[in-house]
Amino acid sequence: MSQPTVRFAPSPTGYIHIGNARPALLNYLFARKHHGEFILRFDDTDLERSKEEYARAIEVDLAWLGVVPDLILHQSQRLSLYASAAQVLRDAGRLYPCYETAEELDRKRKRQQARGLPPVYDRAALALSASERARLEAEGRRPHWRFLLDQTIVRWEDLVRGESHIDCASLSDPVLVRADGSYLYTLPSVVDDIDQHITHVIRGEDHVTNTAVQIQLIDALGASGHPPVFAHHNLLSLVTGEALSKRLGSLSIGALREQGIEALAVAAAAVLTGSSIALHPIKSLDELVQSLDLGQLSRTQTRLDPADIAALSARTLHGLPFESVRDRLAAHDVAGHKARDFWHAVRGNLSTFLEVVDWWRVVEGEIAPVVEDRELLAVAHDSLPEEPWDLATWASWTKRLKERTGRAGKALFHPLRLALTGLDRGPELAALLPLIGRIKASARLSGHVA
Ligand code: GLU
Repeated sequence: MSQPTVRFAPSPTGYIHIGNARPALLNYLFARKHHGEFILRFDDTDLERSKEEYARAIEVDLAWLGVVPDLILHQSQRLSLYASAAQVLRDAGRLYPCYETAEELDRKRKRQQARGLPPVYDRAALALSASERARLEAEGRRPHWRFLLDQTIVRWEDLVRGESHIDCASLSDPVLVRADGSYLYTLPSVVDDIDQHITHVIRGEDHVTNTAVQIQLIDALGASGHPPVFAHHNLLSLVTGEALSKRLGSLSIGALREQGIEALAVAAAAVLTGSSIALHPIKSLDELVQSLDLGQLSRTQTRLDPADIAALSARTLHGLPFESVRDRLAAHDVAGHKARDFWHAVRGNLSTFLEVVDWWRVVEGEIAPVVEDRELLAVAHDSLPEEPWDLATWASWTKRLKERTGRAGKALFHPLRLALTGLDRGPELAALLPLIGRIKASARLSGHVA
């Protein structure tokens, strides 16, 4: 494949959630796989609902997921392009003014429904004469503008859904320009896709119907030579069957980040749910790049259980190599010659990354030991071997303790853990002990804060 150009085009009218991360990642991974370009395009022509603060938050969320755009565009800064395109359509007789109010349109729809007809716009405005239009304008009405659809069947080969078609005779002529002159999503999207030479439009299947209109618009704007390839992926939904929506705070990318969920787990869940590949922990986005196949997305279960994400996040942490967390550890002052062994000792025990801070305190900071069996601890203290310590020290030390005290199993290990770490569960002591070191171990076994 020659180098593709793709885009993720959110409207910055809210924060993005894991369902939005799906097209973002699918586009980004597709671009990476084929050495193409990934554009982040803010569809912000709805000036009332779009907010700069949301656009910035979306950039932050994407960066956290590892999605780095090659180019960022804001449609609000490209309005003159859309105005020229609208003029091309008017000149070709494909964009016509309509004067119905929302209430009038609603009444029409109700009448159609009552008669068992589909609620398709009746094109009454097309029949208006120049003088009727002038009269309506004199009343103070401003027109909104509809695209005159060809009432044909539009076909395309969808990369996910295969052969697809929509009968445009069943659609209302879509409104492209509002009465206040602002643009709805359709025209700017097509104009930008043409202008940016978008080769593949990868997005949710809620846009399938729009595709027929957009293919007609591409033609009407004279760009039919290189229409993009369309790929409509299935949408994520919750196990409850409920759809994800922008209002779903707990699965917003920001909320997941705050809960301590790993970005790689969110990415894996966003991409692999509803694919033929089982959800599994990944070590880097590259793994998803390798396995990406849009054709594998079709018609499989897309139900997401938020509990699975937390579990996947923990499993993700358990497999991360030190190199990939070195900087994050350092940001929490977990650094120095012990850092690597520390990571290997604790990672398998983490539910969230931030727990490293507590375990680092056990190893490097001060904790209050819990004394459960004073007698055992006294013997343990006196039989602590000399350093250097390694991963075998724990086994040889506790074997000796067992012989001397007759204690075994929980009666032996539980008091030692409580004394050495102040906690009753955690990573293997064999790995922790050499990191804690003899000075601290000896103090803690004597019941001192150390
Ligand atoms: N702004 C549209 C959306 O958020 C973009 C759809 C598309 O990718 O064309 O749904």
